[in-house]
Amino acid sequence: MYLVKTPRVIQKLFPSFHWNVESTEDSVIYFTFDDGPIPQLTPWVLEQLEAFNAKATFFCVGNNARRYPELMAQTIAAGHTVGNHTMHHLDGWKSDNVPYFHDVRHCAVQVKSELFRPPYGRLKPSQAQFLTRHYQVVMWDVLSGDFDPELTAEDCYQNVVRNARNGSIVVFHDSLKAEENVRNILPRLLSHYAALGYRFEALTPELLAASAKQKETSGLATRLRTAS
Ligand SMILES: [Zn+2]
Repeated sequence: MYLVKTPRVIQKLFPSFHWNVESTEDSVIYFTFDDGPIPQLTPWVLEQLEAFNAKATFFCVGNNARRYPELMAQTIAAGHTVGNHTMHHLDGWKSDNVPYFHDVRHCAVQVKSELFRPPYGRLKPSQAQFLTRHYQVVMWDVLSGDFDPELTAEDCYQNVVRNARNGSIVVFHDSLKAEENVRNILPRLLSHYAALGYRFEALTPELLAASAKQKETSGLATRLRTAS
C-alpha cells in the first residue's frame, strides 16, 4: 500500500525531511527519477527533459552508478542533480543500522551528493536521526505510481496532474519496471506543465536549506498569528 499524495499529517511527523519546496517563486515543479541510471531508459529521459529545457533530480542506486559512470557524467553535464539512494536499494525498515549506513557510504563513493532519498521512503527513526545530520533527506509529496503494474499510464498521468502544485516534488523511476508508464507520461507531463507556465528545476542542497528556513519562518508567523 502506498499513498499517491503524501498527507500533511505524515509530512508534519517528519519535519526534518523535505516533502516539497517552499518558495516565493511561482510555478516551479521538481521532477525526480529514482533507481537508475540504466542505459535502457535514462538517456531517453535526459532527451525528453532537454527538449523542454527541464532540470531534474536523479536518486541513483550506487550499483547502477558504478556500472554506468558515463550515464552519471552525462546527467550531471546536462545540469541535473544526483542524490544517494543507497548502494543496493535497501529497505531501512528491514535493515540494521550499521549495514544500512555502510551501504549509504558505499553509494556515496559513486554518487557524490548531499541529497539522500531512502528506498521505499522507509527509514527507522534512529536511521533518520543519523542521516539528517549528514544529508538533506528528500521525500516527495506526489508519487506518479509509474512502478505499479496495476496502474495504467493514464492513472499515473492523473496521479500527477491531480496532485502536483507549485513546489511539488514528484517521483518517477528510471527503471525497467516503470519504463512503459514513464515513456507514456513523461512527454505529456512536460507539455502539460510547460503550457501552464511551469519551470522544471533540479533540487540542490542550497535550495532545500532555503526552503526549510522559509518553512520555519512561515510556521513561526502562523503560530504568532494564532497566539495573538
Ligand atoms: Zn527506489
